[in-house]
Amino acid sequence: MDNQAIFLDRDGTLMEDRGYICDFSEAAIFPFAVDALRLMNENNFKVIVVTNQSSIARGICAEDQVREIHRQIQKFFLDREAVIDDFYYCPYHIDGVVEKFKKKHECRKPSPGMLLQAAKDYHIDLSRSFLIGDNECDILAGQNAGCRSILVLTGKGEQTRTELKQKNIKPYLITANILTAAENIIWNN
Ligand SMILES: [Mg+2]
Repeated sequence: MDNQAIFLDRDGTLMEDRGYICDFSEAAIFPFAVDALRLMNENNFKVIVVTNQSSIARGICAEDQVREIHRQIQKFFLDREAVIDDFYYCPYHIDGVVEKFKKKHECRKPSPGMLLQAAKDYHIDLSRSFLIGDNECDILAGQNAGCRSILVLTGKGEQTRTELKQKNIKPYLITANILTAAENIIWNN
């Protein structure tokens, strides 16, 4: 039996979007995200963060710093009895300055690379899975992977709502935040 997953964007969805951060002390996790993740856990969804981190390609943060932030985010939730199963991050960017990461890569949202990899790793049925994000690239990555994409209005969400409307891109749902998104998924699934 394949798993269902909820893919989460990081910045603007799970926590405030504060631009490029290289240390967990700069992170501001949304307090209501704890309840959201518990709800996902209780209903047997895999919870997987998928995040573009071009800060690595741009030479702003070291890859180890990004990994450490993710370890601490995971611990923050675990201390509150909420589980993030895994993090996937895309370090690449075509305009990067770090040679190793200066390229166009299929992991970078809106490409679905990270979701496809996670689907393999965790035996996920993408057609029964969801993505929650605040940016156009999130919505498209979810759709490109065959998931239902939910736009939240935290982070860049309000601006994204306008842009999606102009481009006639239709998310599965538009809702206030990660908690209302989780509630909607659970109630309607
Ligand atoms: Mg975001």
